[in-house]
Amino acid sequence: MNVPFVSFEKMHGEIREEMYKKFQEVYERNWFIQGDESELFEKEFAEYHGAAECVGVGNGLDALFLSLKALGIGEGDEVIIPGNTFIATALAVTYTGAVPVFVEPDMVTYNMGGHGLEEAYTEKTKAVIPVHLYGQPADMDAVLEFAARHQLYVLEDCAQAHGAVYKGKRTGTFGDIGCFSFYPGKNLGALGDGGAVITDDLEIARKVRALGNYGFRKKYECQYLGNNSRLDELQAAFLRIKLKHLDRYNAYRNKVAGRYLREIVNPKIILPQIGPDRTHVWHIFAVLCEERDRLQTYLADHGVMTVCHYPIPIYEQEAYRSLALTELPFTKQISSQELSLPMYYGITEEEVGYVVRLLNEF
Ligand SMILES: *Cc1c(COP(=O)(O)O)cnc(C)c1O
Repeated sequence: MNVPFVSFEKMHGEIREEMYKKFQEVYERNWFIQGDESELFEKEFAEYHGAAECVGVGNGLDALFLSLKALGIGEGDEVIIPGNTFIATALAVTYTGAVPVFVEPDMVTYNMGGHGLEEAYTEKTKAVIPVHLYGQPADMDAVLEFAARHQLYVLEDCAQAHGAVYKGKRTGTFGDIGCFSFYPGKNLGALGDGGAVITDDLEIARKVRALGNYGFRKKYECQYLGNNSRLDELQAAFLRIKLKHLDRYNAYRNKVAGRYLREIVNPKIILPQIGPDRTHVWHIFAVLCEERDRLQTYLADHGVMTVCHYPIPIYEQEAYRSLALTELPFTKQISSQELSLPMYYGITEEEVGYVVRLLNEF
């Protein structure tokens, strides 16, 4: 049996007619940037979160970068981010001229917890970016308490956590800004690149919007040195259709995760754990295994595709060598042992059962 790491077959099959119709509508309307669809998507995505404002942008990296710029973060500043995250979290900080300062993850959630934050703090620290990595909310109580103590901005990197809930509230609504990616494989994915930020602060929203549109106050009146980073009409239109199903897609992932958690029994494989008072949306089902590479090859030999998130920690990346970053043992452990199992809307009972059986026989 062949089990892909991710597949859009069922998801896109179910909404094919609706998506085609939308494409026709946008095609015939001949309005492709900053029109009705992006306005409506922003309204609906803000409503979904109970946030006052949403601004569509070009991708998740820009969501983070433009947010940091809007908050005035730049040269001479430091921003605390998790050691264990996707490279984009760090790049966004670096692009502003600020310096990313890494903290070790909590070894239950693999996400930012309370520890390490105080040690990472200096007088230059301006903001902290908790990442809800793999789809599990970070320990927001600890992060918010730390940020309040030092009057730091909080930007949530929600690129893997669309729809996740922490203490009854959706992730993205705890800090000053929530940043999202709609890369196709994310829990809410476009048919191309896309991103958005949500915030309750009208002034921050206005500034992010301007920064993503050449820095224009209004057309051809340039207030800031901005970028071109907007969510286009087609992607917004497709996302509006998929947003209606997001909770259902996440519930499906949760059922798959439930089976993996109940049925995988092998002392060589460490299953993910969920912290208290939160729901995990399983963007990634991350297991740890000391023989990770052998496990990945074994699964591939039996037709099961997996991915490592992420095989090289940021502090060891060539592009970051000039920062001379210190070693992070937990982050290193995760990068050398993590393996992501097949997880997507539409994976069948048989496929999950096959993956479980292979893992138990490893
Ligand atoms: C995907 C991702 C991003 C970047 O989003 P893009 O749309 O690919 O630019 C940022 N942070 C995390 C944690 C991600 O997973």
